[in-house]
Amino acid sequence: MKTLLPTSTAGSLPKPLWLAQPETLWSPWKLQNEELIAGKQDALRLSLDDQLHAGIDIVSDGEQTRQHFVTTFIEHLNGVDFEKREVVKIRNRYDASVPTVVGAVERQKPVFVDDARYLRQLTKQPIKWALPGPMTMIDTLYDAHYKSREKLAWEFAKILNQEAKELEAAGVDIIQFDEPAFNVFFDEVNDWGIAALERAVEGLKCETAVHICYGYGIKANTDWKKTLGSEWRQYEEAFPKLQQSTIDIISLECHNSRVPMDLLALIRGKKVMVGAIDVATSAIETAEEVADTLRKALQFVDADKLYPSTNCGMAPLARQVAAGKLNALSAGAEIIRRELLAK
Ligand SMILES: [Zn+2]
Repeated sequence: MKTLLPTSTAGSLPKPLWLAQPETLWSPWKLQNEELIAGKQDALRLSLDDQLHAGIDIVSDGEQTRQHFVTTFIEHLNGVDFEKREVVKIRNRYDASVPTVVGAVERQKPVFVDDARYLRQLTKQPIKWALPGPMTMIDTLYDAHYKSREKLAWEFAKILNQEAKELEAAGVDIIQFDEPAFNVFFDEVNDWGIAALERAVEGLKCETAVHICYGYGIKANTDWKKTLGSEWRQYEEAFPKLQQSTIDIISLECHNSRVPMDLLALIRGKKVMVGAIDVATSAIETAEEVADTLRKALQFVDADKLYPSTNCGMAPLARQVAAGKLNALSAGAEIIRRELLAK
């Protein structure tokens, strides 16, 4: 990226209300069959337009074609039975009824590659594409086949690598893996989580990112955050090994968060997507509030490696709120660009 402080979002954006129930996770589609396919494409185009209109530099599909950032990818794989459900605790936080792994997992055909090609032909801006990370995938399933979290994660990493290579060939510039589970299972992260992530990016020539956050602004997450105390030091566990990893960019939650900013020093040398927009509130940040978070991050991240972004996806927010937050992100980044260029 030649642009100074290129802006992006963590991934998801709200869907139009004719496509899915607004402000809801796992929202059911309102269209079917051919109408659904056409509707998703139209929504993707609108989402891109919103990003371009707000001046976002690295654009995405806004995750308009998926119901959920983890489930939709898994639905396309063999070996997982969505009818056979078990209740498990997701990220040690809340009970959910999840599908069961009943046999060898495999990807028979590409999941998002057509969508990526469609986005590519709509814009010349750099494109970032989000995929779920291996550890976060295994954490939303009941495994009755491999009976090993590590083994299942490794199988998913190989599948993700196939998908990522095809996304790269479709013209995606940055492939991002969402790993909120990295903030919970510290021993596993260091034992095999980062290794599995590196397996997922093996052989890629495009840039790669990992997004680690404290989740969407839903109740289970905001309740969990209340138990974490005055300083959130979860990132400290994974950062040393991530700093040594082959991943190019690390995407983090920073704004309105209790993460001590000096933890960013542990990943010095990596590009950092700094969350400067809080997704857990409908209050729209001012440009100055965004700028303030970026200024704090600049104490620990070199200016040419700072990528202003959002704390997490904005799918559960109202559309006009998300649009306001995109504008605030652009305006806040512009304040800091001017400050840096004036030096
Ligand atoms: Zn997130």
